[in-house]
Amino acid sequence: MKDMHKVIIIGGGPAGLSAAIYNSRAGLQPLVFAGSPPGGQLMLTTEVENFPGYKEIMGPDLIQNLRSQVENFGTEIRNENITSVDFSQKPFIVTTSKEEYRSAAVIIATGAQALWLGIESEQKLRGRGVSACATCDGFFFRDKKVAVVGGGDTAMEEAQTLTRFAKKVYIVHRRGEFRASKIMQERVMNNEKIELILNNEIEEVLGENRVEGIRLKESYKKSTTVELDGVFVAIGHRPDTQIFRNSIQLDEKGYIVTSAMQALSHLNNSDEKDVAKFDAIYQTMTSVPGVFAGGDCVDHTYRQAITAAGMGVSAALDAERWLENNLK
Ligand SMILES: Cc1cc2nc3c(=O)[nH]c(=O)nc-3n(C[C@H](O)[C@H](O)[C@H](O)COP(=O)(O)OP(=O)(O)OC[C@H]3O[C@@H](n4cnc5c(N)ncnc54)[C@H](O)[C@@H]3O)c2cc1C
Repeated sequence: MKDMHKVIIIGGGPAGLSAAIYNSRAGLQPLVFAGSPPGGQLMLTTEVENFPGYKEIMGPDLIQNLRSQVENFGTEIRNENITSVDFSQKPFIVTTSKEEYRSAAVIIATGAQALWLGIESEQKLRGRGVSACATCDGFFFRDKKVAVVGGGDTAMEEAQTLTRFAKKVYIVHRRGEFRASKIMQERVMNNEKIELILNNEIEEVLGENRVEGIRLKESYKKSTTVELDGVFVAIGHRPDTQIFRNSIQLDEKGYIVTSAMQALSHLNNSDEKDVAKFDAIYQTMTSVPGVFAGGDCVDHTYRQAITAAGMGVSAALDAERWLENNLK
């Protein structure tokens, strides 16, 4: 068993590293487990143009800058995975494949993974025309043609977002009907920039250095290839929360439920709309007092680097105040 820590942060993406900057400055000497491989989703992208403070920065460089900022405070970042946790006792125990660590508070920022089609050409052209985020990358496709893959609300939303930039958006869906809500489907059907390719699947993303088209399984308009410039995969995200399944409350999709999320869902499902009644002392607290969470492992709505960073900071401030009030 290793030494006792005040805060252990699990996650080395924008949320975990931003939490680490705040807890380090507050003198809590957090220990950060950044995972293996470390860095999270931004390692999979090229240019990021929407992180305030940078006109343009490569995703991996942004992560490296955040890590340097954390390490500048003397904080240690380990590129190791936490394999299990025990939140049933205090101090909490978090375990890697080699060691157990004890901590008074824990911040979870393990993020999520975009689900991909799993075909080789998609992986080859990721960041070079293949993306999983229209809000992030739509801007690069002004007046271009793109395809969105998927049939749920996310796919409909991604397609709508892309019509602000692209001149043509195909939605490729393997079934004949969408899973998406009726209202989202109607919006898509009424958008003249959007064309549906149903009962079909992408067999290959074409292009050597950039996306140049797609090859479909079945022919569409007498051809199995469609020329286009971008492919947005919108078949879902999976939060990296499996190891917390038996320790804290997760929602039905595996996202971590925090006090703020619980209050939101209560307000959505009740006639009582008085937000002021929600006493938000620790908004990022999970179902276990002393365990906080932020970033894409909690948030399935915004899913941006800056919102994840902001949630990480909220978790760090909550942990700080919780320790002040509870660690005598
Ligand atoms: C292709 C792509 C392009 C994107 N482009 C942009 C963009 O241009 N602008 C933008 O704002 N957003 C972009 N995003 C979204 C953005 O990357 C995410 O919203 C953001 O990274 C979420 O941050 P996070 O810290 O919550 O999680 P993540 O970035 O997912 O980081 C999670 C961290 O937790 C670690 N981890 C997971 N499990 C464990 C464990 N068991 N033990 C220890 N560590 C663990 C991981 O290794 C990783 O370090 C993009 C996403 C993708 C997929």
